[in-house]
Amino acid sequence: MPVLPADGQVYDIAIPVLIIGAGASGLVAALAAKDAGIDPVVLERDLVPRGSTALSSGMIPACKTRIQQEKGIADSIETMVDDIMRKSCGQADSKIVEAMCRASGPAIDWLTQTHGVELTLVEGFLYPGHSQLRMHAPISRAGVDLMRGLSAAAENASIDIMTGAHVIDLFADGAGHIKGVRIERPDGATELIGCKALVLACNGFGGNADMVRQYIPEMEGALYFGHPGNQGDAILWGQALGAGVQHLGSYQGHGSVSHPHGILISWALMMEGGFQLNSEGQRFSNEHDGYSEQAQRVLKQSGDVAWNIFDDRLRELVAGFKDYEQAEAHGAVVKAQCIAKLAQLIGVSEERLADTFDEIAQFASGRRQDKFGRDFTSNPTLQAPYYAVKVTGSLFHTQGGLVINSDACVLDADGDALPNLFASGGAACGVSGPQDWGYLSGNGLLSAVSFGRIAGKSAAGLVLSSMGVVTVTG
Ligand SMILES: Cc1cc2nc3c(=O)[nH]c(=O)nc-3n(C[C@H](O)[C@H](O)[C@H](O)COP(=O)(O)OP(=O)(O)OC[C@H]3O[C@@H](n4cnc5c(N)ncnc54)[C@H](O)[C@@H]3O)c2cc1C
Repeated sequence: MPVLPADGQVYDIAIPVLIIGAGASGLVAALAAKDAGIDPVVLERDLVPRGSTALSSGMIPACKTRIQQEKGIADSIETMVDDIMRKSCGQADSKIVEAMCRASGPAIDWLTQTHGVELTLVEGFLYPGHSQLRMHAPISRAGVDLMRGLSAAAENASIDIMTGAHVIDLFADGAGHIKGVRIERPDGATELIGCKALVLACNGFGGNADMVRQYIPEMEGALYFGHPGNQGDAILWGQALGAGVQHLGSYQGHGSVSHPHGILISWALMMEGGFQLNSEGQRFSNEHDGYSEQAQRVLKQSGDVAWNIFDDRLRELVAGFKDYEQAEAHGAVVKAQCIAKLAQLIGVSEERLADTFDEIAQFASGRRQDKFGRDFTSNPTLQAPYYAVKVTGSLFHTQGGLVINSDACVLDADGDALPNLFASGGAACGVSGPQDWGYLSGNGLLSAVSFGRIAGKSAAGLVLSSMGVVTVTG
């Protein structure tokens, strides 16, 4: 993925704003550039744009949205900033967090009202670390429907998405000014496309086993649940251009992927009263710390697996999630009328399992404190019949990446902006601090959507100003 000298290079066509990657970040950036008056082109390596966005649950956190206001939810930028900073133990860049949260509400309103992307507020439970209901998602809670909505919006806006266009090289002059890219077609043919501004929206390096081994050794060999085309190209190009990179050891893990079916089981089960057991029938952690750090905790259990335990009340909560429906359809969920039967189905000692249930009843009544620190008092204890799903820990996406400023400009190692390079979504450094424990639910799509819009606007603004057009930001 080299950056080559631009001297004397002639391009087949010239485009004002090129965007690499047609996931949420790239499509949102394209919509923003188009609204600003520039015709962007999105380059996507796959024949059908999907990205990790299509694999996700499509939950986008945002504050002060019209949808929240209609539901009477009193959220604020400050509250959302505090939630993100608390989860990252103060190690996220507070200026970027503030910019992201400030942009989040207007971005959701703009997507829903101007571009007709259908999103609803996720109600009924709070994700760990969020102090308000602020997840906005397609009604199916499926990223594939978010991609469908964004792709339709791009089509309605007459945005060109060039698929089967794998960007393999960038061309830059001595000052780091990007002049164009080389794409490779599925038949091996190559084309050269010139540009005035480039947005890197091609996510992180979760699909690159060598980079995972280098930067996240604890997840080497773990199930990667994101899009395999995310090979770290943005980071490799950025490094070649002298860009700053940060928090490459940071990632979103997940401790609840059904095994061996490979289907995400919503963490709402854990937040509302469910719990995880290892193959000895014992809890091993505070499930309310967050699902990201739970990946490693599950991987440390015997056989790299755990059991999610829940009941009818909780099953109803997730029954409308496409993922959960699939898990049941594939036989990943087992049901037992009593603890003895549950013990038999999940292969643990009946006595040990009964002890664990008894212990949790004591935590719920306030008679004893959980040694892992979880508060069980706010949810009812589980009632028969019981359900269980065997799960493993997985790597969802990387959170480290290119250092950007609040206009989504990529910065060099000294903190100065590169001339015409922008990044958003998983290509940019996220707001989760240096490791897995700093990931607050939704930090992935938050960056893709909030900063995707900022990157598209900034890239368009740069091109317009080079043409002498004055733009008004906001
Ligand atoms: C199972 C799962 C569930 C998740 N659920 C959520 C959730 O509910 N909420 C949340 O906030 N986050 C969630 N995430 C994380 C979220 O999916 C990502 O943070 C987000 O989709 C990143 O968007 P993106 O546009 O940056 O990347 P992507 O959607 O991955 O798009 C990047 C695109 O770039 C393309 N590309 C890569 N390299 C090149 C190249 N050289 N040339 C051309 N194209 C290229 C790829 O093919 C891809 O289409 C989840 C992740 C997973 C795996």
